[in-house]
Amino acid sequence: MSLVDEIVAMEAELTSWRRDIHAHPELGFEESRTADFVAAKLEEFGIEAFRGIGRTGVVGVLREGNETRAIGLRADMDALPIDETNGFDHRSKAPGAMHACGHDGHTTMLLAAAKYLAESRNFRGQVNFIFQPAEEGIGGARAMIEDGLFSQFPCDRLFAMHNAPGLPVGRFGAVAGTRTAAGAFFDIDIKGKGAHGAFPHQGIDPVVIAAEVIGALQTIISRASPPGETAVISVTQVHAGDAYNVIPESARLSGTVRAMSLETMQQIEARVLEISKGIASAHGGDATVSFRVIFHPVRNDDETTQMAAEVCASMVGDDQVIQAGPAGTGSEDFSFMSEQVPSCYLILGNGDDSRPLHNPGYDFNDGAIVYGASFFARIVEHMLAPE
Ligand SMILES: [Zn+2]
Ligand SMILES: [Zn+2]
Repeated sequence: MSLVDEIVAMEAELTSWRRDIHAHPELGFEESRTADFVAAKLEEFGIEAFRGIGRTGVVGVLREGNETRAIGLRADMDALPIDETNGFDHRSKAPGAMHACGHDGHTTMLLAAAKYLAESRNFRGQVNFIFQPAEEGIGGARAMIEDGLFSQFPCDRLFAMHNAPGLPVGRFGAVAGTRTAAGAFFDIDIKGKGAHGAFPHQGIDPVVIAAEVIGALQTIISRASPPGETAVISVTQVHAGDAYNVIPESARLSGTVRAMSLETMQQIEARVLEISKGIASAHGGDATVSFRVIFHPVRNDDETTQMAAEVCASMVGDDQVIQAGPAGTGSEDFSFMSEQVPSCYLILGNGDDSRPLHNPGYDFNDGAIVYGASFFARIVEHMLAPE
């Protein structure tokens, strides 16, 4: 077995869909044009499309035979608030928005599989094509689940795929276990006491407190986490003051934490709180912390991942399928779906020369479309094979 011939034959058309979506990026929960595009295509293929699942989400349902078994295939549709620097014809036409994470490619791959499966119907059961909005940290997966995604469209197994810059096109990764990190965002508001910059003894300087807090937060990973356990804490925003001669009343630090389990995440949260409050109070100030866990870790189910790896190997050969390796410190809100249904989250090469994800010069590699689409098609034919 190799790639799906019918999908390979559509490659030029698929590239034009992908570039059309790339040229019209929409931020999370604003994917109305993209959802229109997806729903129109699904209906054109003869697949019933359900709109408004998780606001701008779309679910397509394709059924063959009377079997009750079902699988879900999920793609994400949202873009990022980045100004694209590419000069090619399909560059973003929307200032301040860009498909810098390749979700244009993910959407296209799933549409291509839908078209093929609707025509060939070489399976028995139900396929739920899940087009998710707002993957980039604003809760699209949760929104779909809260809208009854899995009660309305039950799935026995779930598959999703993300492109991977640096990995050759045609190479897959399907690795069991924890694959992406839990992710949290935090804000630390430090309250001091404003004063004249020339008379610091009359105030409580929140800038000095903030500086100490930033330094001390670095000890959470180096001193409080077990060596060998992957975790990250990054302070990414520092805001305080706006005059040369004024000690401000307050300061705000913001940033992100990544950890491989929710237990570790809770321990880090507790330390962020203790350190911030402890240092602030040592200087006579105060600190309040808002700590929000946005992503859970994606866990790949053993058996589901094994099946995915076998299907990949049948298309590209064993040596092109990565089946072991460390999890990354990136996060993915597919985690919330993978907590509800046995899942496999795969990666697919976007080429050695690809710019990194979230880079203003990134572009999804059109050569990868037929690989991802063939996987989605073949996993359905494998798992829902006619008896
Ligand atoms: Zn992203
Ligand atoms: Zn992404």
